[in-house]
Amino acid sequence: MAKQIIPTPQVKYTQIFVNNEFVNSVSGKTFPTINPTTGEKICDVQEADKADVNLAVKAAREAFKLGSPWRCMDASARGRLLYKLADLVERDKDYFAALETLDNGIPYNDGMGTIEEVIQVLRYYGGWADKIHGKTIPIDGSFFCYTRHEPIGVCGQIIPWNFPMEMVSWKLGPALAAGNTVVLKPAEQTPLTALYTAALVKEAGFPPGVVNVVPGYGPTAGAAISEHMDVDKVAFTGSVDVGKIIKTAAATSNLKRVTLELGGKSPNIVFADTTDLDEAVLVSHEALFYNMGQCCCAGSRTFVQEEIYDEFVKKSTERAQNRTVGNPLDTNIESGPQINEEQFDKVLDLIESGKKEGAKLQCGGSRHGDKGLFIQPTVFSDVEDNMRIAKEEIFGPVQAIFKFKTIEEVLERANNTSFGLAASVFSRDIDKALTIANSLQAGTVWVNTYNAGGANAPFGGYKMSGNGRELGEYALQEYTEIKTVTVKLSQKNS
Ligand code: ADP
Repeated sequence: MAKQIIPTPQVKYTQIFVNNEFVNSVSGKTFPTINPTTGEKICDVQEADKADVNLAVKAAREAFKLGSPWRCMDASARGRLLYKLADLVERDKDYFAALETLDNGIPYNDGMGTIEEVIQVLRYYGGWADKIHGKTIPIDGSFFCYTRHEPIGVCGQIIPWNFPMEMVSWKLGPALAAGNTVVLKPAEQTPLTALYTAALVKEAGFPPGVVNVVPGYGPTAGAAISEHMDVDKVAFTGSVDVGKIIKTAAATSNLKRVTLELGGKSPNIVFADTTDLDEAVLVSHEALFYNMGQCCCAGSRTFVQEEIYDEFVKKSTERAQNRTVGNPLDTNIESGPQINEEQFDKVLDLIESGKKEGAKLQCGGSRHGDKGLFIQPTVFSDVEDNMRIAKEEIFGPVQAIFKFKTIEEVLERANNTSFGLAASVFSRDIDKALTIANSLQAGTVWVNTYNAGGANAPFGGYKMSGNGRELGEYALQEYTEIKTVTVKLSQKNS
């Protein structure tokens, strides 16, 4: 039976969430959130600025005080709260998926896939809460030495618009499992699912102040978080430029801990001995066009070995021409709109640069239709490494296909970028595939697949793609301080 979609989800929460209450902004200001599919305003949202961030940080600090309900809570109980939050997201997943599509434009089925992932991530970290522990260490002398993995404290979390709910879970999961308190700023383009999550945080039973959500703009609310003297850590996902601003703000304020997940220009290398050419074409297509190319780990440099180059280009072009573009609430649709006019213009400008710089336009190349922020799935072949479309992160539905001859050549070209988020290799030769996997400078490498992962597999970047890792056990390290406690004993025994 066809799934019933909630076509126009009612927006229930538009205020700032502090201390388990929804409140108006101190300034009285609001900002609009826009439906990218129609360009129409969905609603106005209370606009958090410095004064609101200060209140949120105060609440988070209070919740983190020694002796507070959150600090005294059993670790297993923290875990159960995360399970409960996951259950509530699951209860409301149809609503979440519809709200995400409304605010973000992600095709409904893809949006639902991200909500399923959110549930998994929250459950995964719920399981970790009572398994975060230190060691006893046999130092020389008559001592008892042990480590504690303590929560860092108040964590600022600044997230982007491309996967709003997924980012909420990647941030809240490890932070709360480890016992921190949080001030989370959703992107100004997509605040709605984070605000609905806030209501569920309260319903789940988290104590007041443990999670605070401050919708607002980057240079105001975001900057107030990263510059704050009473925020102990900031976790950011977004652009390299803003990542640098945040790291600088952290350095010049209180040297708060910083983790960054930034952009990418990920190489996807297809050898002539790939296991199945058609499959490689389809996976490479999805690696790029998923979420309209608005994916930090998009396979945006497709390197194809010369023996299969022409056939690969032909098949990729056919696939892109068949990609369905339109209303993302229609479950037959594969691609919706770009998020906003700024991104839309940026992508079209990069497409023009590709045409001018001599890449061969195989299909697409302009807007789709004459209304809305839709862009035709675009494929360029004969792309050279020095072109803008080869170097800049496009964040749009533009596949750039390069030709290569040898392993040595493609390795050097693949690594010749300041990014290092993800990469992939297609080959049936395990030795070759692993040589490539071990030589690529990227935080994630896929072999004969793309975008495979799970809540338990870490994700993050080499080089300018970021600092630190999210997901998996590794993310917990980014949300804990290690304390060494050494106790003098009267007698040492082995
Ligand atoms: P994108 O290019 O994907 O929109 P940005 O890096 O601009 O990514 O934004 C990602 C997040 O960072 C958003 O929540 C945005 O509001 C926030 N942000 C933007 N500028 C700043 C800033 N100067 N300080 C802190 N946060 C910011």
